[in-house]
Amino acid sequence: MKIAVFVKQVPDSAAKLSVDNGAVNWGDAPLVINPWDEYAVEAALQLAEKHNGEVAAISMGSEDAKEALKHALAMGAGSATLISDAALADADAAAAAKVFAAAVQKLGGVDLAIFGKQAIDSDTGLAPAMTARVLGWPALTMLAAIPALDPGAKTIQVERAIEEGRQVVEGKLPAVLSIVKDYAEPRYPSFMGIRKASKAEIPVWSLADLGISAPESKVRWTEISAPPAREVTSEMVTGANADEIAAKLADLIIAEGVL
Ligand SMILES: Cc1cc2nc3c(=O)[nH]c(=O)nc-3n(C[C@H](O)[C@H](O)[C@H](O)COP(=O)(O)OP(=O)(O)OC[C@H]3O[C@@H](n4cnc5c(N)ncnc54)[C@H](O)[C@@H]3O)c2cc1C
Repeated sequence: MKIAVFVKQVPDSAAKLSVDNGAVNWGDAPLVINPWDEYAVEAALQLAEKHNGEVAAISMGSEDAKEALKHALAMGAGSATLISDAALADADAAAAAKVFAAAVQKLGGVDLAIFGKQAIDSDTGLAPAMTARVLGWPALTMLAAIPALDPGAKTIQVERAIEEGRQVVEGKLPAVLSIVKDYAEPRYPSFMGIRKASKAEIPVWSLADLGISAPESKVRWTEISAPPAREVTSEMVTGANADEIAAKLADLIIAEGVL
């Protein structure tokens, strides 16, 4: 079974973001693999282990995105490819989906294209469904579990995490999946995996390599602004013991009208 897993390089969620001259700035904070994509890699690895499959990690972005790919390699992915092309500057999610679909087709013989639930920077959550649409494959999104998969019969049964509980859905392979964190805790990269990843040569595919021209983007960011600063005052509640502190805290909460 052949699995493509998509990983995006994003600013660390702990980074302090600011908006400078209309552009997002995260200072010296490191770029990391999109946290949701670690769950996607974990799901891909578990499925490959169970069904004797192979996992190919793919990222689209600048050279920096190779670090996200190295993380996927260190976790256990068998190969990694970066898609990078100057013509992708300002590619929106629909344009990105055309690129992801072309990458899946270039890999060839892919049974599952696995995504995280969303990228924590642009946060649209559109890439999985849009990629499925371009490929003409079923989109099985927000998966908390995959109770059954039969690569021979090309069938899959999944549990979708929805607000009210779980929804069991059956589909056909090949399919596009997106994974949520209930699936499984992502494994830590092993020491051997980190060494292997650090030496890996990661091929770069351009749009010409994918055999497509630059897809048109229909969405533009016309303005980016930081939320207005909130005025917050704080007060330390002290006392001789926990009972006294709790009583003072309760008085304060009641005085503030919080309760
Ligand atoms: C204004 C604007 C400018 C952009 N400029 C560029 C650019 O210069 N160069 C460029 O390469 N892209 C660019 N993009 C594309 C963008 O970075 C995303 O890849 C794309 O919009 C997908 O949407 P999302 O980030 O909301 O992902 P979501 O749909 O929220 O992500 C869902 C899942 O899709 C996968 N995924 C999403 N993005 C990527 C990725 N890039 N690589 C691998 N997997 C991914 C991950 O598994 C992720 O968990 C731009 C997008 C916008 C809106």
